[in-house]
Amino acid sequence: STNRSAVSGSSVPRPDANAADAWPAAHGWRDASPDMLAAIGGTPLILLKRASEATGCTILGKAEFMNPGGSVKDRAALAIIEAAEAEGRLEPGGTIVEGTAGNTGIGLTLVANARGYRSVIVMPETQSREKIDFLRMIGADLRLVPAKPFRDPGNYVHVSRRLAEETGAVWANQFDNLANREGHRRGTATEIWQQTGGAVDAFTCSCGTGGTLAGVSLGLHELAARDGKPAPRIVLADPHGSGLYGWVKSNDLGVSGSSITEGIGQSRVPGNLEGVAIDDAVRIGDAEALGQVFDLLQFEGLSIGGSAGINVAAAIHVARSLGPGHTVVTILCDSGARYQSKLFNPAFLREKGLPVPDWLEAA
Ligand code: PMP
Repeated sequence: STNRSAVSGSSVPRPDANAADAWPAAHGWRDASPDMLAAIGGTPLILLKRASEATGCTILGKAEFMNPGGSVKDRAALAIIEAAEAEGRLEPGGTIVEGTAGNTGIGLTLVANARGYRSVIVMPETQSREKIDFLRMIGADLRLVPAKPFRDPGNYVHVSRRLAEETGAVWANQFDNLANREGHRRGTATEIWQQTGGAVDAFTCSCGTGGTLAGVSLGLHELAARDGKPAPRIVLADPHGSGLYGWVKSNDLGVSGSSITEGIGQSRVPGNLEGVAIDDAVRIGDAEALGQVFDLLQFEGLSIGGSAGINVAAAIHVARSLGPGHTVVTILCDSGARYQSKLFNPAFLREKGLPVPDWLEAA
């Protein structure tokens, strides 16, 4: 038997977990995986109840924090390494180098471990302690560099490119390497289409490399056209301090302000975003994003990071603009555990002038 969700305005069937042998179907069945790599992707699509209730829409979050490396970037890491292998650029014992806010480094290192490669990860020292510790734990050759703007030759992206050139290693180049968005086109988009039965009115997410937004946009457009459905509306979610909102709205990459979120926001247009349909953009501040992070944790038991908070806030904006009865999908990029020392640290929040919820103060 199948019950309707208790949430008004939303329609996600709840399988009966008490029927004999019904647990797997009720909890996201998947076949046994031949290795860790095959366990990348296939993530749950979770109804966000309060956001759905507040808007009368069905707002769904793709639980990318459930990937083996704990983030959406496992998909890009696998796609980039498989493309380099297919092109004969990466061979057993080889080394892959990348500049990253951390999550791509985690994904690349785990995939490299599984496939017998070494990884060298260049990362700005401002990124969370949890990501740095985890990268060291899993065996990355980690090079922390001071945070510098992209125009500065000391920027982590340029440092990683030079390091790859000097050592003859493979440079992952996630910003401009289209294998990144291709992984999301084949994977993330197809999963979303199947999990919703092709009922997606809008998709929104933030951009670091743009691989997720671009790949999902390309994939959903193809699948909608194939099935004779209207193309879903694609909306960029952007933090303060990023130029992409202005780029989408008025073709102006002007930047102002800053954000405590990690892994998202850009002062240029990465290759992965080029030629991709983006219908609109919303800008989300840190306080609003954190409100979603704290509410989802407290009321729905979902632990998410700051970029996922921006995505959920943006999904609510998009749902309001569409009106009740629509389905809006977004990405839960990684987990709150990755930012315990920042987003869940009252001293850090106060220093940034952000509100501290009572329960966190008392924790
Ligand atoms: N959220 C987090 C936490 C990330 O680490 C990243 C990747 N830098 C993103 C979002 C953005 O993903 P993408 O690179 O596919 O745009």
